[in-house]
Amino acid sequence: MKSQLKIANWLLELDSDQTQEFYAKGVDVCNCAYCSNFTASTGKMSSKFIALLAALGIDPKMPAELSEFPSNEEGLHTYLGFYHFTGEVIEGKLITSSDWKESNTLKLDNFTIGFSTELMFVPEDFPAPVLQLEFEVDLPWVLEPLDKTADN
Ligand SMILES: [Zn+2]
Repeated sequence: MKSQLKIANWLLELDSDQTQEFYAKGVDVCNCAYCSNFTASTGKMSSKFIALLAALGIDPKMPAELSEFPSNEEGLHTYLGFYHFTGEVIEGKLITSSDWKESNTLKLDNFTIGFSTELMFVPEDFPAPVLQLEFEVDLPWVLEPLDKTADN
């Protein structure tokens, strides 16, 4: 069923049931150490971010894409990534690959998020219309250290 969600300056029209059903079937997620660290972190992530994903019907452990960069801050890793969901922006500004600024993004604790229709890597059969929720966040490493020799 369609519903509307007001978040900051956006008004979205969603079908969170369809989105939830799609994630319940499972989405392929990269299992490299960096992506595994992200999915292992979801229990400790910003509750505001997790609540938004829940409202959209998105499973936090199933991002469509993640890129990891060493952060300037000690021990943190910067992640850029995105999720897909079924919905449309009725009001509010979209982000594009070249336009990501304060006026078209939102801070949710340590996350910065925005919505885009420049879709990439949409899983086959994802129910239309599809929106892309993009984010940037700095996260600590929660898995075993990558460099085992550092333990000695
Ligand atoms: Zn990966």
